[in-house]
Amino acid sequence: MSATEELFREDATLLRCEARLVEILPEGLVLDRTVFYPQGGGQAGDGGRLLLADGRAIAIADTRKSRGDEANPPRLLHVPAAGQEALLAELAAALPLALSAEIDAERRRAHMRFHTATHLLCALVPHPVDGCSITAGYARLDFHTAEPLDKEALSAGIARLVAEAHAVRHRWISDAELDANPQLVRSMSVQPPRGSGRVRLLEVEGVDLQPCGGTHVGNTSEVGDVVVTKIEKKSAMTRRVVLGFASPV
Ligand SMILES: [Zn+2]
Repeated sequence: MSATEELFREDATLLRCEARLVEILPEGLVLDRTVFYPQGGGQAGDGGRLLLADGRAIAIADTRKSRGDEANPPRLLHVPAAGQEALLAELAAALPLALSAEIDAERRRAHMRFHTATHLLCALVPHPVDGCSITAGYARLDFHTAEPLDKEALSAGIARLVAEAHAVRHRWISDAELDANPQLVRSMSVQPPRGSGRVRLLEVEGVDLQPCGGTHVGNTSEVGDVVVTKIEKKSAMTRRVVLGFASPV
């Protein structure tokens, strides 16, 4: 079985695509292509629905990648919401099945705004990152440092970079190019995915450059009113910065 084509890697603004449901596994549904981002790199997975030609829909609660092993590469799994067992059992007899895959746009938009804001934080805080979590309600980034961080100064720094409207774009480089530039890797806990021979590099023009496979807005102006809501001392060498929306979305 070939891998799912990951349309969100090239275009994070896609909300919907035509696809085929090719497999129904106990852990989730496999499509031949998708706009659903699977949980990874700290970013939460997408929710949404799979629209069938007859008007019915499968509600998708989450998206994630299976762990995989040498014999079985990781699978991109659309996790159905509970209570749809009868529908899924019926569809299992009709595979492959053409459908439209549509993500929850508001949830993804929040992920993209927060995710891009974490790149701005990386540019403002000169310490390595050793943990990251991005959801629709908040984002948090753990910095490896014993130094205190200033909540108001970081909020002001984010606001400045948002107001400056920097372009955000990605490009692909080879593993060899990354090996030649180890300073590009900001995170201690999330190593860029290896093995495919290429690495996705995310650039916030003039601000931040690092390997990242997540989804981002196209310009820092789209991050909007994101502020630092809390700074916690998680351990002697860890400062956690929590981001939130200044005004409810
Ligand atoms: Zn990113």
